Amino acid sequence: MTTSSNTCDVLVLGSGPAGSSLAAILAEKGWQVDVWEKDPHPRFHIGESLLPHTLPFLKQLGVLEEVKRIGLQKFGAELVSPDHDESVTLYFSGAMDKNHPYAYQVRRSEFDEILLKNSQKKGAHVREGFEAKTVDFSDPSLATIHGKNAQGIAVSQQARYVVDATGRQTFLANQFNTKQRNLQHNSASVFGHFEDVVRHSGKDEGNLTICWFDQGWFWIIPLTDGVTSVGMVCWPSYLKSRTNNLEDFFWQTVHMSLPMTHRMKKATSIMPIVATGNYAYQSTVMTGSQFMLVGDAFAFVDPILSSGVHLALHSGIRGADVVDAYLHGHAQAGQKARDFETAVKHGLKTYSWFIYRITQPAFRNLAMVPRNFFRIHEAISSMLAGDVFGTTPVQLPLFLFKGLYYLIAMLDLKANLVQYQKRKRAVEEEPVASLPPGQ
Ligand SMILES: Cc1cc2nc3c(=O)[nH]c(=O)nc-3n(C[C@H](O)[C@H](O)[C@H](O)COP(=O)(O)OP(=O)(O)OC[C@H]3O[C@@H](n4cnc5c(N)ncnc54)[C@H](O)[C@@H]3O)c2cc1C
Repeated sequence: MTTSSNTCDVLVLGSGPAGSSLAAILAEKGWQVDVWEKDPHPRFHIGESLLPHTLPFLKQLGVLEEVKRIGLQKFGAELVSPDHDESVTLYFSGAMDKNHPYAYQVRRSEFDEILLKNSQKKGAHVREGFEAKTVDFSDPSLATIHGKNAQGIAVSQQARYVVDATGRQTFLANQFNTKQRNLQHNSASVFGHFEDVVRHSGKDEGNLTICWFDQGWFWIIPLTDGVTSVGMVCWPSYLKSRTNNLEDFFWQTVHMSLPMTHRMKKATSIMPIVATGNYAYQSTVMTGSQFMLVGDAFAFVDPILSSGVHLALHSGIRGADVVDAYLHGHAQAGQKARDFETAVKHGLKTYSWFIYRITQPAFRNLAMVPRNFFRIHEAISSMLAGDVFGTTPVQLPLFLFKGLYYLIAMLDLKANLVQYQKRKRAVEEEPVASLPPGQ
């Protein structure tokens, strides 16, 4: 057993966007920050599509120029529906705040490494190959974290504050037994990286494509160097119904959609197809005087709105202020933690309303025929751009959008009820576990 001689101020577990952003800010403030990461960078991670309002976070962290170099510009999201003849592209330039007209599509191996190296540059002490196993909080002033290093040797470290940024591994929520399945959502996903996927030309090359099909929807995320991330999100029952291996199942599903068949007609996969599920959850606990859960370690709902990295960076950056207040022993630390929790939950709630309804015919009809009555189209573009934490007055038009959605659902009650029942059955199903490649 190796015990680190140093007691650090903050031990951050996990170095995705949430952990590395928080580590960078606290190290910059002069705290002694250690980071444990079980998988050495660069490592594959799914989730390549960023949002325009993520760019100010990257600027604040000092990595925007580096991200620009590895990213493909994304000006909007194209929606393709089997019930509509033409696709629709929602451009971020149509959002209420015109200052953020684009984002980037990034390879997460490169993006996450940039963020981690940035935290190191600012003074964080990174230990790759270190996997946390348990934390002992019995001493109220010093937590002890136990784990193992890349050689499998037991390691431990003491820290005044522990930040769980372990993503969907949900390390602390598992230890505390506070992880709860999301009772309003349940989906699974099958994905890979491909070469020679048909791309749009010019300014539209980097746009995200969302293509609905009977059992869910596909994403197409073009990356630099001709590689494209393609995946489907479906009801768990559809994934469970497969009788072939993941690769064949993926292609069989692509061929269920004409637009996808066209985009993938010459595509070849450059990595084994992967399936992941069981990812709609939330912890009942987020912060304490000795710990905090940030990013996916606290909650995740669904990939459709590409909000995961945005929410992870938001919670990492804002969470750093709360940790700073606890370490200083500030009297207002508890209040800061409560405000932080409110902000994080507000972001999740805003996206969840749309995620829960996105497969409904009423939603599709509204999205495919964008109208700007009372600025609702601008507000939807703002939400898609990640403008949910700022001062842009999106709440009223989003509220009106919701009203219009219910009205349209009433006018086509039968179709919407059928889809609602389908969704309800999917939510009640047992989630599917993630599957290793090749299964
Ligand atoms: C199918 C799918 C598609 C998605 N697409 C998008 C998208 O297009 N855009 C988007 O913004 N989001 C997307 N997301 C969501 C996005 O991937 C996540 O929300 C985001 O990565 C969360 O960041 P994080 O820092 O919280 O966690 P992560 O990025 O998952 O980082 C967690 C880190 O912790 C490490 N770790 C885990 N356990 C331990 C441990 N015990 N000890 C030490 N280290 C540990 C892991 O190795 C990892 O490096 C998608 C998600 C899914 C499931």
